[in-house]
Amino acid sequence: MHYELRCRECGKSWGNQPRSICDDCFSPLEVSYDYDALRWQVTRDQIAQGPPSMWRYSGLLPLPENFQPSLPTGFTPLFRAPRLAEQFGAKNLYIKNDAVCLPTLSFKDRVVAVALAQAREFGFEVVSCSSTGNLANSVAAQAARDGFRSWIFIPADLEPAKIIGTQVFGARLVRIAGSYDQVNRLCSQIADEHQWGFVNVNLRPYYAEGSKTVGFEIAEQLGWELPDNVVVPMAGGSLITKIKKAFDELIALGLVDPKPVRFFGAQATGCSPISSAVKAGNAEIDPQKPATIARSLAIGNPADGHYAIKTIKANGGWAEDVSDPEIVESIQLLAETEGIFTETAGGVTVGCTRKLYRQDRILPDETTVICITGNGLKTTDALTGKYEAEEPIPPKISEFDKYLERTLDIDLPETVEA
Ligand SMILES: *Cc1c(COP(=O)(O)O)cnc(C)c1O
Ligand SMILES: [Zn+2]
Repeated sequence: MHYELRCRECGKSWGNQPRSICDDCFSPLEVSYDYDALRWQVTRDQIAQGPPSMWRYSGLLPLPENFQPSLPTGFTPLFRAPRLAEQFGAKNLYIKNDAVCLPTLSFKDRVVAVALAQAREFGFEVVSCSSTGNLANSVAAQAARDGFRSWIFIPADLEPAKIIGTQVFGARLVRIAGSYDQVNRLCSQIADEHQWGFVNVNLRPYYAEGSKTVGFEIAEQLGWELPDNVVVPMAGGSLITKIKKAFDELIALGLVDPKPVRFFGAQATGCSPISSAVKAGNAEIDPQKPATIARSLAIGNPADGHYAIKTIKANGGWAEDVSDPEIVESIQLLAETEGIFTETAGGVTVGCTRKLYRQDRILPDETTVICITGNGLKTTDALTGKYEAEEPIPPKISEFDKYLERTLDIDLPETVEA
């Protein structure tokens, strides 16, 4: 096997097994690879000949031998955002759009795809997770597709669309009267007791590797070049660290030229343990009690917070956070400028990006990619009251003209009804 689990701190090797913590030093485990072997196997040509999905990077993922993907997940569009850029006074702004990821419209589909590959390998029949919503949707859907039973644990107050979007797949959904952090602690205990594959607990090191594919795709879609800046929404803080790992791997394998990419983390002010630590110059997280409409990012004690801070500080990045009203405004701004309806997490990313340009932490000419990680149809409640349903009008041209005069406050010449 060309990969195995290794302790991030003491370096002890743990082989391949469903485990996320080093028993010796209680630090997190991470998948590490034999890069010397990979250098000969993974080339741009080989990747280009692969399928138009995240599986084109299979050589750089922890997948069992003879693994057969069941869905073409990932390889979402990356494109310029000229009208949003204009709002920011920017020139080189790109959107990586995981609001259209298969099968459940968030980047979580990538991590689940890798975790379930290993769940099968380890012989689990039940897969499970603690979730702020999108992970629940993705585990439930892919479990159905792959023939696992699924048990999903969520804080009770999630958005209705995310609850229905889990139950529809036949998952067992357990609502917990508590915060995500409490749900997650409970799941660690359940994982110890039952033989279940928790994608973000005992399978977490494999799961997290799936996020690298966002980074691989950004580099390939920019023509095998790294951007100057990436703006990434943070919950547990894993995605931002894995995009950096992806770029570092591409550099190590000679697939892109080295470049000190700056990483910018985005959070909601109502749950901002990572951005607060970055702003205060702290290397560790001070846990918070979340209070924000950005539920998908509402993790008060982020598992990878420490590493997210390191990633941000590595090349002179920064972290910002935005209030709930700014999140809503930013959802509307992205929709009105680029035709993309993102969920609250995307509002966080767009709102923080605007701040970062205003602060001159990101400069107009620099190539900047913002990660839109989830779909707005799942969090329509965030826009409640923003668009009042108007009284219907009769289906007559004269009525429509009256309506126009009323709403636009203008006088039209009288029309003759046909
Ligand atoms: C989970 C999630 C994130 C953050 O992911 P982490 O790896 O936990 O930091 C960002 N956006 C959306 C939409 C998510 O569901
Ligand atoms: Zn260790």
